[in-house]
Amino acid sequence: MTAALRLTLYRRPGCSLCDEAERLLEAEAARQGVALSLVRVDIDADPERLARFLLAIPVVADAEGNVRLQAPVDAAGVRALITELASEAPHGPRPHLSPHPGMEVAASMASHAPESAASGPRLSRRAAGIPGSPTVALDARAKAMLAAGEQVLNLAVGEPDLPPPAAALEAARRGLERATKYAPPAGRPELRRAVAAAAEREHGVATTPDMVLVGVGGKQVLYSLFHVLFDPGDRVLVPVPYWVSYPDQLRLAGCESVFVPTRPEDGWRLTAAAVAARIGPGVRGIVLNSPNNPTGAIVDEGEFTAILDLCRRHDLWVVSDEIYGVLTYGGRTAPSARTLAARAGMDLRRVVVVDGASKKFAMTGFRVGWAIAPPDVVEAAARLQSQVTSSAAAPCQLAAEAALADDGGSVAHMRQVYEERRDRFVAGLNALGLATPLPDGAFYAWCSAAPFLGRSVAGVPCFSTEQVAARLLDVARIACVPGEAFGQPGYLRMSFANPQEVLDLALARLGEVLAATTDVATGTTAS
Ligand code: PMP
Ligand code: GLU
Repeated sequence: MTAALRLTLYRRPGCSLCDEAERLLEAEAARQGVALSLVRVDIDADPERLARFLLAIPVVADAEGNVRLQAPVDAAGVRALITELASEAPHGPRPHLSPHPGMEVAASMASHAPESAASGPRLSRRAAGIPGSPTVALDARAKAMLAAGEQVLNLAVGEPDLPPPAAALEAARRGLERATKYAPPAGRPELRRAVAAAAEREHGVATTPDMVLVGVGGKQVLYSLFHVLFDPGDRVLVPVPYWVSYPDQLRLAGCESVFVPTRPEDGWRLTAAAVAARIGPGVRGIVLNSPNNPTGAIVDEGEFTAILDLCRRHDLWVVSDEIYGVLTYGGRTAPSARTLAARAGMDLRRVVVVDGASKKFAMTGFRVGWAIAPPDVVEAAARLQSQVTSSAAAPCQLAAEAALADDGGSVAHMRQVYEERRDRFVAGLNALGLATPLPDGAFYAWCSAAPFLGRSVAGVPCFSTEQVAARLLDVARIACVPGEAFGQPGYLRMSFANPQEVLDLALARLGEVLAATTDVATGTTAS
Protein backbone atom coordinates (compact mmCIF):
# COMPACT_ATOMS: atom_id res chain seq x y z
CA MET A 1 0.00 0.00 0.00
CA THR A 2 1.58 3.28 -1.04
CA ALA A 3 0.78 6.68 0.48
CA ALA A 4 -0.84 9.10 -1.94
CA LEU A 5 1.07 12.20 -2.91
CA ARG A 6 -0.73 15.21 -1.52
CA LEU A 7 -0.56 18.44 -3.52
CA THR A 8 -2.58 21.61 -3.27
CA LEU A 9 -3.56 23.51 -6.39
CA TYR A 10 -4.46 27.13 -5.74
CA ARG A 11 -6.66 28.05 -8.64
CA ARG A 12 -9.39 30.27 -9.89
CA PRO A 13 -12.69 28.94 -11.28
CA GLY A 14 -12.96 29.13 -15.05
CA CYS A 15 -9.25 29.86 -15.49
CA SER A 16 -7.90 27.92 -18.45
CA LEU A 17 -4.30 28.00 -17.16
CA CYS A 18 -5.53 26.46 -13.92
CA ASP A 19 -7.42 23.77 -15.83
CA GLU A 20 -4.29 23.03 -17.78
CA ALA A 21 -2.18 22.79 -14.60
CA GLU A 22 -4.70 20.35 -13.13
CA ARG A 23 -4.68 18.26 -16.27
CA LEU A 24 -0.85 18.16 -16.33
CA LEU A 25 -0.63 17.14 -12.67
CA GLU A 26 -3.12 14.33 -13.07
CA ALA A 27 -1.66 13.09 -16.34
CA GLU A 28 1.90 13.09 -15.01
CA ALA A 29 0.92 11.31 -11.78
CA ALA A 30 -0.87 8.65 -13.84
CA ARG A 31 2.12 8.33 -16.15
CA GLN A 32 4.44 7.74 -13.20
CA GLY A 33 1.98 5.41 -11.47
CA VAL A 34 1.74 7.74 -8.49
CA ALA A 35 -1.46 7.98 -6.45
CA LEU A 36 -2.25 11.69 -6.33
CA SER A 37 -4.49 13.41 -3.82
CA LEU A 38 -5.07 16.85 -5.33
CA VAL A 39 -6.65 19.46 -3.08
CA ARG A 40 -8.14 22.30 -5.09
CA VAL A 41 -8.33 25.66 -3.36
CA ASP A 42 -10.45 28.35 -5.01
CA ILE A 43 -8.47 31.47 -4.17
CA ASP A 44 -11.29 33.84 -5.06
CA ALA A 45 -12.97 32.61 -1.90
CA ASP A 46 -9.92 33.32 0.22
CA PRO A 47 -8.90 37.01 0.17
CA GLU A 48 -5.73 36.46 2.18
CA ARG A 49 -4.33 33.89 -0.18
CA LEU A 50 -5.68 35.84 -3.12
CA ALA A 51 -3.47 38.79 -2.24
CA ARG A 52 -0.46 36.50 -2.04
CA PHE A 53 -1.01 34.53 -5.22
CA LEU A 54 -2.92 36.79 -7.53
CA LEU A 55 -0.02 37.57 -9.77
CA ALA A 56 0.89 33.92 -10.28
CA ILE A 57 -2.09 31.61 -10.58
CA PRO A 58 -2.13 28.61 -10.71
CA VAL A 59 0.16 27.74 -7.79
CA VAL A 60 1.06 24.19 -6.74
CA ALA A 61 2.06 23.62 -3.11
CA ASP A 62 3.31 20.47 -1.41
CA ALA A 63 1.89 18.77 1.69
CA GLU A 64 3.73 21.26 3.94
CA GLY A 65 2.26 24.22 2.10
CA ASN A 66 5.53 25.20 0.40
CA VAL A 67 5.02 26.72 -3.02
CA ARG A 68 6.56 24.32 -5.53
CA LEU A 69 5.37 25.62 -8.89
CA GLN A 70 3.89 28.89 -10.03
CA ALA A 71 2.23 30.00 -13.23
CA PRO A 72 2.85 29.25 -15.96
CA VAL A 73 2.84 25.62 -14.74
CA ASP A 74 4.39 23.56 -17.51
CA ALA A 75 4.86 19.86 -18.24
CA ALA A 76 8.59 19.85 -17.41
CA GLY A 77 8.02 21.47 -14.00
CA VAL A 78 5.18 19.10 -13.16
CA ARG A 79 7.25 16.08 -14.19
CA ALA A 80 10.24 17.17 -12.09
CA LEU A 81 8.03 17.90 -9.07
CA ILE A 82 6.18 14.59 -9.11
CA THR A 83 9.38 12.66 -9.70
CA GLU A 84 11.03 14.43 -6.78
CA LEU A 85 8.14 14.08 -4.35
CA ALA A 86 7.42 10.48 -5.32
CA SER A 87 11.01 9.48 -4.66
CA GLU A 88 10.93 11.31 -1.29
CA ALA A 89 7.80 9.58 0.01
CA PRO A 90 8.87 7.10 2.78
CA HIS A 91 7.16 4.07 1.27
CA GLY A 92 6.22 5.97 -1.74
CA PRO A 93 5.93 4.75 -5.25
CA ARG A 94 8.81 4.64 -7.69
CA PRO A 95 8.27 5.43 -11.31
CA HIS A 96 7.15 2.30 -13.19
CA LEU A 97 8.45 3.57 -16.42
CA SER A 98 11.42 5.71 -17.07
CA PRO A 99 11.31 7.87 -20.15
CA HIS A 100 15.04 7.34 -20.57
CA PRO A 101 17.66 5.14 -18.87
CA GLY A 102 19.34 8.03 -17.09
CA MET A 103 16.37 8.38 -14.79
CA GLU A 104 16.60 4.79 -13.66
CA VAL A 105 20.27 5.25 -12.82
CA ALA A 106 19.41 8.40 -10.86
CA ALA A 107 16.65 6.57 -9.00
CA SER A 108 18.89 3.67 -8.02
CA MET A 109 21.66 6.02 -6.90
CA ALA A 110 19.11 7.86 -4.78
CA SER A 111 18.13 4.58 -3.09
CA HIS A 112 21.76 4.13 -1.97
CA ALA A 113 22.05 7.65 -0.66
CA PRO A 114 22.61 8.10 3.10
CA GLU A 115 19.49 8.45 5.28
CA SER A 116 20.00 12.16 6.00
CA ALA A 117 19.95 13.01 2.30
CA ALA A 118 16.74 11.11 1.69
CA SER A 119 14.60 14.22 1.52
CA GLY A 120 17.09 16.08 -0.67
CA PRO A 121 18.81 19.40 0.00
CA ARG A 122 16.58 22.30 0.99
CA LEU A 123 16.59 25.73 -0.55
CA SER A 124 18.01 28.57 1.49
CA ARG A 125 15.78 30.69 3.71
CA ARG A 126 16.79 33.60 1.50
CA ALA A 127 15.23 31.84 -1.50
CA ALA A 128 11.85 31.79 0.18
CA GLY A 129 12.08 35.53 0.78
CA ILE A 130 12.85 36.54 -2.82
CA PRO A 131 9.70 38.04 -4.27
CA GLY A 132 9.26 37.63 -8.01
CA SER A 133 8.59 40.76 -10.08
CA PRO A 134 4.80 41.13 -10.36
CA THR A 135 5.01 42.83 -13.76
CA VAL A 136 7.19 40.05 -15.14
CA ALA A 137 4.86 37.39 -13.62
CA LEU A 138 1.78 39.03 -15.12
CA ASP A 139 3.48 39.38 -18.49
CA ALA A 140 4.46 35.69 -18.39
CA ARG A 141 0.89 34.76 -17.56
CA ALA A 142 -0.59 36.92 -20.33
CA LYS A 143 1.92 35.58 -22.85
CA ALA A 144 1.18 31.98 -21.80
CA MET A 145 -2.56 32.59 -22.28
CA LEU A 146 -1.87 34.12 -25.70
CA ALA A 147 0.26 31.11 -26.61
CA ALA A 148 -2.64 28.88 -25.55
CA GLY A 149 -4.78 30.67 -28.14
CA GLU A 150 -6.69 33.02 -25.82
CA GLN A 151 -7.43 36.53 -27.05
CA VAL A 152 -5.70 38.32 -24.19
CA LEU A 153 -5.04 42.05 -24.42
CA ASN A 154 -1.69 42.42 -22.70
CA LEU A 155 -1.68 45.91 -21.19
CA ALA A 156 0.31 44.61 -18.24
CA VAL A 157 3.93 44.85 -19.18
CA GLY A 158 5.81 48.01 -20.07
CA GLU A 159 7.15 46.85 -23.39
CA PRO A 160 7.09 48.94 -26.59
CA ASP A 161 5.29 47.25 -29.46
CA LEU A 162 7.20 49.27 -32.09
CA PRO A 163 10.38 47.83 -33.65
CA PRO A 164 13.94 48.79 -32.64
CA PRO A 165 15.88 51.14 -34.96
CA ALA A 166 16.95 49.40 -38.18
CA ALA A 167 20.60 50.26 -37.50
CA ALA A 168 20.43 48.40 -34.17
CA LEU A 169 19.12 45.24 -35.81
CA GLU A 170 21.78 45.41 -38.49
CA ALA A 171 24.52 45.93 -35.87
CA ALA A 172 23.22 42.98 -33.84
CA ARG A 173 23.49 40.77 -36.93
CA ARG A 174 27.05 41.97 -37.52
CA GLY A 175 27.75 41.42 -33.85
CA LEU A 176 26.89 37.74 -34.16
CA GLU A 177 29.99 37.40 -36.33
CA ARG A 178 32.28 40.03 -34.84
CA ALA A 179 31.43 40.36 -31.17
CA THR A 180 31.49 36.77 -29.98
CA LYS A 181 33.78 37.12 -26.95
CA TYR A 182 33.39 38.45 -23.39
CA ALA A 183 33.06 42.19 -23.11
CA PRO A 184 34.55 44.13 -20.14
CA PRO A 185 32.31 44.14 -17.02
CA ALA A 186 31.57 47.88 -17.29
CA GLY A 187 30.76 47.57 -21.00
CA ARG A 188 32.50 47.73 -24.36
CA PRO A 189 34.66 50.87 -24.63
CA GLU A 190 32.83 51.84 -27.85
CA LEU A 191 29.44 51.70 -26.14
CA ARG A 192 30.69 53.55 -23.08
CA ARG A 193 31.99 56.29 -25.38
CA ALA A 194 28.68 56.46 -27.24
CA VAL A 195 26.68 56.64 -23.98
CA ALA A 196 29.00 59.32 -22.59
CA ALA A 197 28.64 61.40 -25.76
CA ALA A 198 24.83 61.07 -25.71
CA ALA A 199 24.67 61.93 -21.99
CA GLU A 200 26.88 64.98 -22.47
CA ARG A 201 24.59 66.17 -25.26
CA GLU A 202 21.32 65.43 -23.42
CA HIS A 203 22.35 66.58 -19.93
CA GLY A 204 24.57 69.46 -20.99
CA VAL A 205 27.21 68.20 -18.55
CA ALA A 206 30.76 67.00 -19.34
CA THR A 207 30.71 63.19 -19.30
CA THR A 208 33.63 60.84 -19.78
CA PRO A 209 33.45 57.09 -20.66
CA ASP A 210 34.81 56.11 -17.23
CA MET A 211 31.55 57.52 -15.83
CA VAL A 212 29.51 54.95 -17.77
CA LEU A 213 28.46 51.56 -16.40
CA VAL A 214 26.80 49.18 -18.85
CA GLY A 215 24.79 46.22 -17.57
CA VAL A 216 22.13 43.66 -18.44
CA GLY A 217 19.28 46.17 -18.61
CA GLY A 218 18.52 49.10 -16.36
CA LYS A 219 17.16 46.59 -13.87
CA GLN A 220 20.49 44.86 -13.32
CA VAL A 221 22.34 48.19 -13.31
CA LEU A 222 20.06 49.34 -10.48
CA TYR A 223 20.77 46.11 -8.61
CA SER A 224 24.53 46.69 -8.93
CA LEU A 225 24.18 50.31 -7.83
CA PHE A 226 22.11 49.52 -4.73
CA HIS A 227 24.81 47.06 -3.65
CA VAL A 228 27.69 49.47 -4.02
CA LEU A 229 26.01 52.66 -2.79
CA PHE A 230 24.26 51.32 0.30
CA ASP A 231 25.13 49.17 3.30
CA PRO A 232 22.79 46.62 4.85
CA GLY A 233 20.56 48.48 7.29
CA ASP A 234 20.61 51.72 5.30
CA ARG A 235 17.29 53.39 4.64
CA VAL A 236 16.46 54.68 1.18
CA LEU A 237 13.62 57.02 0.20
CA VAL A 238 11.27 55.62 -2.42
CA PRO A 239 8.40 57.79 -3.72
CA VAL A 240 5.03 56.04 -4.06
CA PRO A 241 3.72 54.82 -6.43
CA TYR A 242 7.05 53.23 -7.33
CA TRP A 243 8.31 50.96 -10.06
CA VAL A 244 7.76 47.46 -8.70
CA SER A 245 11.41 46.45 -8.40
CA TYR A 246 12.87 49.28 -6.29
CA PRO A 247 11.74 48.13 -2.83
CA ASP A 248 12.46 44.47 -3.54
CA GLN A 249 15.90 45.16 -4.99
CA LEU A 250 16.69 47.37 -2.01
CA ARG A 251 15.60 44.59 0.31
CA LEU A 252 17.88 42.19 -1.54
CA ALA A 253 20.70 44.65 -0.77
CA GLY A 254 19.70 44.56 2.92
CA CYS A 255 18.18 48.06 2.84
CA GLU A 256 14.87 49.37 4.05
CA SER A 257 12.64 51.51 1.83
CA VAL A 258 11.19 54.64 3.38
CA PHE A 259 8.13 55.47 1.32
CA VAL A 260 7.41 59.05 0.29
CA PRO A 261 3.79 59.68 -0.69
CA THR A 262 2.64 61.58 -3.76
CA ARG A 263 -0.95 62.72 -4.23
CA PRO A 264 -3.47 62.54 -7.04
CA GLU A 265 -4.33 66.21 -6.46
CA ASP A 266 -0.68 67.07 -7.27
CA GLY A 267 -0.88 65.00 -10.45
CA TRP A 268 1.22 62.37 -8.58
CA ARG A 269 4.21 64.75 -8.82
CA LEU A 270 6.77 64.37 -6.08
CA THR A 271 7.31 67.46 -3.92
CA ALA A 272 10.34 68.56 -1.91
CA ALA A 273 8.12 68.98 1.17
CA ALA A 274 7.09 65.30 1.04
CA VAL A 275 10.73 64.26 0.71
CA ALA A 276 11.87 66.54 3.54
CA ALA A 277 9.22 65.05 5.84
CA ARG A 278 10.70 61.55 5.41
CA ILE A 279 14.38 62.33 5.81
CA GLY A 280 15.48 60.94 9.15
CA PRO A 281 18.10 58.80 10.89
CA GLY A 282 19.69 56.13 8.72
CA VAL A 283 18.45 57.58 5.42
CA ARG A 284 21.31 57.41 2.90
CA GLY A 285 19.68 57.93 -0.46
CA ILE A 286 16.65 58.43 -2.66
CA VAL A 287 15.42 56.72 -5.82
CA LEU A 288 13.80 59.20 -8.20
CA ASN A 289 11.89 58.25 -11.33
CA SER A 290 10.75 61.00 -13.66
CA PRO A 291 8.86 60.42 -15.91
CA ASN A 292 7.37 57.99 -13.46
CA ASN A 293 6.32 54.40 -13.90
CA PRO A 294 3.36 53.91 -13.28
CA THR A 295 1.89 57.47 -13.26
CA GLY A 296 3.79 59.16 -16.10
CA ALA A 297 4.26 62.20 -13.85
CA ILE A 298 7.26 64.46 -14.44
CA VAL A 299 8.66 66.14 -11.33
CA ASP A 300 8.45 69.93 -11.63
CA GLU A 301 11.82 71.55 -12.24
CA GLY A 302 11.70 73.74 -9.13
CA GLU A 303 10.67 70.83 -6.89
CA PHE A 304 13.31 68.59 -8.45
CA THR A 305 16.03 71.17 -7.78
CA ALA A 306 14.80 71.60 -4.22
CA ILE A 307 14.89 67.79 -3.73
CA LEU A 308 18.47 67.69 -5.04
CA ASP A 309 19.33 70.44 -2.61
CA LEU A 310 17.83 68.46 0.28
CA CYS A 311 19.99 65.53 -0.80
CA ARG A 312 23.06 67.76 -0.80
CA ARG A 313 22.29 69.08 2.67
CA HIS A 314 21.64 65.60 4.09
CA ASP A 315 24.46 63.92 2.18
CA LEU A 316 22.20 61.47 0.34
CA TRP A 317 22.88 59.47 -2.80
CA VAL A 318 20.54 60.38 -5.64
CA VAL A 319 19.67 57.48 -7.93
CA SER A 320 17.65 59.06 -10.73
CA ASP A 321 16.00 56.47 -12.98
CA GLU A 322 15.48 58.35 -16.25
CA ILE A 323 14.69 55.36 -18.43
CA TYR A 324 11.56 57.11 -19.81
CA GLY A 325 13.41 60.45 -20.13
CA VAL A 326 12.83 60.95 -23.86
CA LEU A 327 9.26 59.61 -23.85
CA THR A 328 7.41 62.83 -23.04
CA TYR A 329 4.31 64.35 -24.62
CA GLY A 330 2.46 67.58 -25.22
CA GLY A 331 5.67 69.55 -25.63
CA ARG A 332 6.84 68.58 -22.13
CA THR A 333 10.43 67.62 -21.40
CA ALA A 334 11.78 65.77 -18.38
CA PRO A 335 14.90 67.47 -17.03
CA SER A 336 17.69 65.17 -15.90
CA ALA A 337 18.92 65.23 -12.30
CA ARG A 338 22.38 65.87 -13.70
CA THR A 339 21.25 68.94 -15.66
CA LEU A 340 19.44 70.44 -12.68
CA ALA A 341 22.21 69.69 -10.19
CA ALA A 342 24.81 71.24 -12.51
CA ARG A 343 22.59 74.27 -13.14
CA ALA A 344 22.26 74.84 -9.39
CA GLY A 345 26.04 74.57 -9.00
CA MET A 346 25.84 71.36 -6.97
CA ASP A 347 28.47 68.68 -6.69
CA LEU A 348 27.52 65.97 -9.20
CA ARG A 349 29.37 63.25 -7.34
CA ARG A 350 26.27 62.19 -5.41
CA VAL A 351 24.07 61.93 -8.54
CA VAL A 352 23.70 58.68 -10.45
CA VAL A 353 21.46 58.54 -13.52
CA VAL A 354 20.04 55.26 -14.88
CA ASP A 355 18.95 54.84 -18.49
CA GLY A 356 18.96 52.15 -21.15
CA ALA A 357 17.94 50.90 -24.57
CA SER A 358 14.76 49.06 -23.52
CA LYS A 359 12.26 51.89 -23.68
CA LYS A 360 13.64 54.62 -25.91
CA PHE A 361 14.88 52.20 -28.58
CA ALA A 362 12.21 49.53 -28.01
CA MET A 363 14.97 47.02 -27.26
CA THR A 364 13.65 45.26 -24.14
CA GLY A 365 14.87 41.81 -25.16
CA PHE A 366 18.40 43.00 -25.88
CA ARG A 367 18.94 43.60 -22.17
CA VAL A 368 21.22 46.62 -22.31
CA GLY A 369 21.03 49.41 -19.77
CA TRP A 370 23.49 51.85 -18.29
CA ALA A 371 24.23 54.36 -15.58
CA ILE A 372 26.14 57.63 -15.55
CA ALA A 373 27.94 57.81 -12.22
CA PRO A 374 31.20 58.97 -10.65
CA PRO A 375 34.11 56.74 -11.80
CA ASP A 376 34.60 55.16 -8.35
CA VAL A 377 30.95 54.04 -8.33
CA VAL A 378 31.34 52.63 -11.83
CA GLU A 379 34.54 50.83 -10.84
CA ALA A 380 32.93 49.22 -7.75
CA ALA A 381 29.80 48.19 -9.66
CA ALA A 382 31.96 46.75 -12.45
CA ARG A 383 33.79 44.62 -9.86
CA LEU A 384 30.42 43.30 -8.69
CA GLN A 385 29.33 42.64 -12.27
CA SER A 386 32.64 40.84 -12.97
CA GLN A 387 31.49 38.29 -10.38
CA VAL A 388 27.88 38.07 -11.46
CA THR A 389 27.35 38.62 -15.18
CA SER A 390 30.87 39.25 -16.60
CA SER A 391 29.20 41.63 -19.06
CA ALA A 392 26.07 42.37 -21.03
CA ALA A 393 25.92 40.29 -24.24
CA ALA A 394 28.44 41.71 -26.68
CA PRO A 395 26.27 41.67 -29.85
CA CYS A 396 23.54 43.48 -27.92
CA GLN A 397 26.01 46.14 -26.88
CA LEU A 398 26.87 46.67 -30.54
CA ALA A 399 23.17 47.09 -31.26
CA ALA A 400 22.73 49.68 -28.51
CA GLU A 401 25.77 51.56 -29.76
CA ALA A 402 24.29 51.67 -33.27
CA ALA A 403 20.94 52.89 -31.94
CA LEU A 404 22.67 55.71 -30.06
CA ALA A 405 24.55 56.70 -33.21
CA ASP A 406 21.52 56.58 -35.50
CA ASP A 407 18.00 55.83 -34.33
CA GLY A 408 16.65 56.59 -37.80
CA GLY A 409 14.04 58.93 -36.34
CA SER A 410 12.46 56.09 -34.38
CA VAL A 411 12.45 57.94 -31.04
CA ALA A 412 10.62 60.92 -32.54
CA HIS A 413 8.21 58.57 -34.31
CA MET A 414 7.58 56.58 -31.14
CA ARG A 415 6.90 59.73 -29.18
CA GLN A 416 4.34 60.88 -31.74
CA VAL A 417 2.62 57.48 -31.94
CA TYR A 418 2.46 57.12 -28.14
CA GLU A 419 1.09 60.64 -27.79
CA GLU A 420 -1.79 59.88 -30.17
CA ARG A 421 -2.55 56.64 -28.38
CA ARG A 422 -2.30 58.32 -25.00
CA ASP A 423 -4.83 60.98 -25.96
CA ARG A 424 -7.36 58.52 -27.34
CA PHE A 425 -6.96 55.84 -24.68
CA VAL A 426 -7.02 58.18 -21.70
CA ALA A 427 -10.07 60.01 -23.10
CA GLY A 428 -11.76 56.61 -23.53
CA LEU A 429 -11.00 55.57 -19.95
CA ASN A 430 -12.35 58.84 -18.58
CA ALA A 431 -15.48 58.48 -20.72
CA LEU A 432 -16.05 55.12 -19.01
CA GLY A 433 -15.81 56.80 -15.63
CA LEU A 434 -12.34 55.41 -14.89
CA ALA A 435 -10.70 58.69 -13.86
CA THR A 436 -7.27 58.89 -15.48
CA PRO A 437 -4.97 61.91 -15.58
CA LEU A 438 -3.20 62.62 -18.87
CA PRO A 439 0.34 61.33 -18.29
CA ASP A 440 3.15 63.68 -19.31
CA GLY A 441 5.59 60.86 -20.02
CA ALA A 442 6.28 57.09 -20.12
CA PHE A 443 3.52 54.95 -21.66
CA TYR A 444 1.10 54.02 -18.92
CA ALA A 445 -2.45 55.05 -18.11
CA TRP A 446 -2.88 55.14 -14.33
CA CYS A 447 -6.58 54.94 -13.75
CA SER A 448 -8.75 54.97 -10.68
CA ALA A 449 -10.55 51.66 -10.25
CA ALA A 450 -13.21 53.20 -8.00
CA PRO A 451 -16.14 52.22 -10.28
CA PHE A 452 -15.22 48.54 -9.82
CA LEU A 453 -14.70 48.54 -6.06
CA GLY A 454 -17.49 47.31 -3.82
CA ARG A 455 -19.13 45.78 -6.87
CA SER A 456 -19.41 42.26 -8.20
CA VAL A 457 -17.65 41.64 -11.49
CA ALA A 458 -19.24 38.66 -13.23
CA GLY A 459 -20.53 37.38 -9.91
CA VAL A 460 -17.40 37.90 -7.80
CA PRO A 461 -17.29 40.78 -5.30
CA CYS A 462 -14.23 43.01 -5.70
CA PHE A 463 -12.90 44.96 -2.75
CA SER A 464 -9.31 45.45 -3.91
CA THR A 465 -7.64 46.36 -7.17
CA GLU A 466 -5.86 43.00 -7.09
CA GLN A 467 -9.27 41.38 -7.25
CA VAL A 468 -10.36 43.77 -10.01
CA ALA A 469 -7.26 43.00 -12.10
CA ALA A 470 -7.84 39.30 -11.60
CA ARG A 471 -11.45 39.60 -12.74
CA LEU A 472 -10.50 41.69 -15.76
CA LEU A 473 -8.08 38.99 -16.82
CA ASP A 474 -10.51 36.14 -16.28
CA VAL A 475 -13.67 37.79 -17.54
CA ALA A 476 -12.50 40.30 -20.16
CA ARG A 477 -9.09 38.84 -20.97
CA ILE A 478 -7.45 42.19 -20.19
CA ALA A 479 -4.10 41.97 -18.42
CA CYS A 480 -3.25 45.07 -16.40
CA VAL A 481 -1.28 45.66 -13.22
CA PRO A 482 -3.09 46.38 -9.94
CA GLY A 483 -1.94 49.37 -7.90
CA GLU A 484 -0.88 47.11 -5.03
CA ALA A 485 2.19 46.14 -7.09
CA PHE A 486 3.29 49.80 -7.05
CA GLY A 487 2.45 50.39 -3.40
CA GLN A 488 -0.73 52.31 -4.27
CA PRO A 489 -3.94 50.26 -4.11
CA GLY A 490 -7.06 51.62 -5.75
CA TYR A 491 -5.56 52.11 -9.22
CA LEU A 492 -4.81 50.06 -12.32
CA ARG A 493 -1.87 50.52 -14.67
CA MET A 494 -2.54 49.92 -18.34
CA SER A 495 0.23 50.21 -20.91
CA PHE A 496 -0.58 52.11 -24.08
CA ALA A 497 2.58 50.80 -25.77
CA ASN A 498 0.12 48.61 -27.64
CA PRO A 499 -1.45 48.85 -31.11
CA GLN A 500 -4.45 51.17 -31.30
CA GLU A 501 -6.82 48.28 -32.16
CA VAL A 502 -5.79 46.54 -28.95
CA LEU A 503 -6.43 49.69 -26.93
CA ASP A 504 -9.82 50.26 -28.59
CA LEU A 505 -10.81 46.68 -27.94
CA ALA A 506 -9.71 47.02 -24.32
CA LEU A 507 -11.95 50.07 -23.93
CA ALA A 508 -14.88 48.20 -25.45
CA ARG A 509 -14.37 45.21 -23.16
CA LEU A 510 -13.94 47.45 -20.11
CA GLY A 511 -17.20 49.16 -20.98
CA GLU A 512 -19.03 45.82 -21.18
CA VAL A 513 -17.61 44.58 -17.89
CA LEU A 514 -18.40 47.87 -16.13
CA ALA A 515 -21.98 47.86 -17.38
CA ALA A 516 -22.48 44.37 -16.03
CA THR A 517 -21.10 45.01 -12.53
CA THR A 518 -23.58 44.85 -9.68
CA ASP A 519 -23.51 46.57 -6.33
CA VAL A 520 -22.33 44.07 -3.72
CA ALA A 521 -24.86 45.27 -1.15
CA THR A 522 -27.96 45.84 -3.31
CA GLY A 523 -27.29 43.70 -6.36
CA THR A 524 -28.19 46.59 -8.69
CA THR A 525 -26.32 47.03 -11.96
CA ALA A 526 -24.41 50.14 -13.01
CA SER A 527 -26.71 52.88 -14.33
N1 PMP B 1 13.21 51.47 -14.49
C1 PMP B 1 11.90 51.58 -14.76
C2 PMP B 1 11.15 52.73 -14.18
C3 PMP B 1 11.26 50.64 -15.55
O1 PMP B 1 9.96 50.78 -15.83
C4 PMP B 1 12.00 49.56 -16.04
C5 PMP B 1 11.27 48.48 -16.78
N2 PMP B 1 11.71 48.21 -17.97
C6 PMP B 1 13.38 49.51 -15.77
C7 PMP B 1 13.94 50.47 -14.97
C8 PMP B 1 14.27 48.42 -16.24
O2 PMP B 1 14.23 48.20 -17.62
P1 PMP B 1 15.29 47.32 -18.34
O3 PMP B 1 15.88 46.38 -17.35
O4 PMP B 1 14.54 46.63 -19.42
O5 PMP B 1 16.34 48.26 -18.88
N1 GLU C 1 9.46 47.91 -16.50
C1 GLU C 1 8.42 47.24 -17.21
C2 GLU C 1 7.13 47.29 -16.40
O1 GLU C 1 7.05 47.99 -15.43
C3 GLU C 1 8.85 45.87 -17.65
C4 GLU C 1 8.70 44.75 -16.65
C5 GLU C 1 9.66 44.92 -15.52
O2 GLU C 1 10.86 44.80 -15.77
O3 GLU C 1 9.16 45.21 -14.45
O4 GLU C 1 6.20 46.66 -16.78
